[in-house]
Parts: sequence; structure tokens; C-alpha cells
Amino acid sequence: MSEDTDIDRLCNRIIEALSAPFVYEDQQINIGASIGVALAPDDANQANELLRCADIALYQAKEAGRGTWRAYGREMDQRLHERLQREEELRVALAEQQLEVYYQPRYLSQGMQIIGAEALVRWNHPERGLLLPEQFIPLAEETGLIIPLGRWVLHQACSQATRWPGDTVVSVNLSPLQLHDDRLLDEIAHALGENGLPGERLELEVTESALLRETQGTLDQLKRVKALGVHLAVDDFGTGYSSLTSLRHYPFDVIKIDNSFVAGIGQSMEDHSIVRALIELGRGLQMRVTAEGVETEEQLRLLKDDGCTEVQGFHMSHPMSADELQRLLSQLPARD
Ligand code: C2E
Ligand code: MG
Ligand code: MG
Repeated sequence: MSEDTDIDRLCNRIIEALSAPFVYEDQQINIGASIGVALAPDDANQANELLRCADIALYQAKEAGRGTWRAYGREMDQRLHERLQREEELRVALAEQQLEVYYQPRYLSQGMQIIGAEALVRWNHPERGLLLPEQFIPLAEETGLIIPLGRWVLHQACSQATRWPGDTVVSVNLSPLQLHDDRLLDEIAHALGENGLPGERLELEVTESALLRETQGTLDQLKRVKALGVHLAVDDFGTGYSSLTSLRHYPFDVIKIDNSFVAGIGQSMEDHSIVRALIELGRGLQMRVTAEGVETEEQLRLLKDDGCTEVQGFHMSHPMSADELQRLLSQLPARD
């Protein structure tokens, strides 16, 4: 018992001491520490095995939010094992084409014409059935697998879009890791070139929160992407707390208002005011505005009344397979 409290006290003292800011060459430096603890001979009695246990505990401490410590426990081995297994499964999924891209149509509010569709990835898991992105995208981001996954989605989407009517646009979500990847530009150019898809028929969506991470580098990258002729959309707008002035500097064509505000417009004055303000902001900055997550006739009516130009949501269409979308598009009257 007393050993436990000693460890506790020692770890907390180290963390506290290391997290105090200090000055180096006139700069204030802030660092922190996470600690993993393993004990000999309880956990292991060989140095390398002991270090392995401490490393696993350290990993858990970091996962618990950093600036804390964890002591090794046997159950951690199990958790790590499960994670490695899930990572391996995702690698196999990529290699064996278990992933599938679904598409959700986006409509023009006036006339309700389909003007594009958003590529949304799914995983046809051999045992667990159809998995949604929230069940595997976070793991793909942590492990870096989002890079090959994102590249695959981009190619699929560009290839599918060539089968759609003339100017229908395909939107592809980019993760922050892709956005900061040096190979991104070549990959977009390659996906367009290989499929013969004109740049203006591809739209890339970047979440507002991804913009917060970096400034100049992100801006430069977005400008280079834009120079390929593709459209850029800021996704989940309103959730990332970026300053409104920063929006002015980024070369976006479209603002996508987050589902959560749209869900509230029939009931909450506050949500409705936010949606109206975002529509107005888009107008002022000469950007198109898409409301996401439109689920009811009333929401659609209010959005139209407020001047929102584009809508997407279950009320019009759920995400569907490429074949289903193809069928839907071919049933529509030809556009002029
Ligand atoms: P997102 O880009 O904001 O996509 C919109 C999400 O809202 C989709 O969820 C869509 O199915 C859902 N949605 C559409 N209409 C409605 C509605 O009326 N009501 C409600 N409640 N939801 C609606 P999904 O497909 O589960 O995707 C979730 C998120 O996963 C996406 O959010 C996107 O951030 C991410 N994601 C999906 N595919 C990819 C991908 O290929 N790459 C990356 N990096 N992220 C992806
Ligand atoms: Mg999106
Ligand atoms: Mg969104």
C-alpha cells in the first residue's frame, strides 16, 4: 500500500515539475510529461521485458489525456493486443477491398435538382456487418492508415463521377493528416488525370477544426489544391470555433453548415439564428452555403426561406451505393 502512494507521489511530483513553464533564450517554453510505471519483479524481472511493460503503461497514460501516469497491468496487454488486431483488420480491409464508397446527393434548394454527391466511406466487415466511418476513421487517423484509405476513396469517387451527368460534382472528405501530407497535390492530380475528370467536378471538404491546427502551411496547401481547379468546402462549419475573419483568408467556395444547427432550426431560436448568420456570412463572402442533415420538410422550408442555396440530408436522400445513385441519376429528366 505504502509503495503505491510513494509511486503516486513521485510521479505527480515529476509531472508537476516538468509542466511548470521555463524560460530559454527569452522564450517561455511549456512542456509536459506522461509516465508509465512497471515494477520488478511483479510485472517482469528482465530489463527489456520491464521496459516493454512500462511502455505499454506509458501508452495508456498518453491515451488518458497526457500529463498523467499509469502503472502497468496485465489487462493492458489485452487492450493493446485488441488495438493491434483492429489495425491489422483495417489493413486487410484496404487490401481486400472490403471498403465501399457510398454517395449522398446534394440538391439545389430552388428546383431540388441534384448538383452533386458526397463520397462517404463504409466498411463491409466480414463479421460485424456494415460499419460507419465513426467506427473506423478515428483508428485510421491514429495509425496513419487514413492516407492510403483517403487516396483510395479519392480514386473511387473520381472514377464514379465520370459516369454521372455532365457537371455533377463529387465531394470527398479530407482528413487533417491528408491535408498536411506533401503527396496530396500529386495524388489529386493523379486521381483527376487517370479518370479524365475535370478539376471543377471535384470538391474537397475540410472540417473547420482541421483548419485550427496550422495556419500558413494549411493556407498554402489549400491554395495549391485550389490551383488544380477543384472546389473547396469547409465542412461542419460552426463547430470548430475558428475565427470568422480567418475564413476570409482561405480560398473556400462552399460553407457546409453542421448537422447539429440544422437539427435545431425548427425548435431553437438560437440554432435558427446561427444558421441564418452563417447563410448571411456565406453571401457576404460570396461562398455557396450547403445545409447538411436536413431531415424534415419544415427544416427544408425554413432553409429555403432564409436563402440557403444548397441542401443535403435524409429528408431528400440517405447515402447510397454507387449503383443506387447511378440509377437515381439516370431516372432524372435530362438537364438543360
Ligand atoms: P460529414 O462529412 O459531415 O458527412 C455527413 C454525415 O452526416 C454523414 O455521416 C451522413 O451520412 C450524415 N447525414 C447525412 N444526412 C443526414 C441527416 O439528415 N441527419 C443526420 N443525422 N445525419 C445525416 P457518415 O457517413 O456516418 O460520415 C460521418 C463522417 O465521417 C463524415 O462527416 C466525415 O467527416 C467522415 N468521413 C466519411 N467518409 C470519409 C472519408 O472518406 N474520409 C474521411 N477523412 N472522412 C470521412
Ligand atoms: Mg463532409
Ligand atoms: Mg459535415
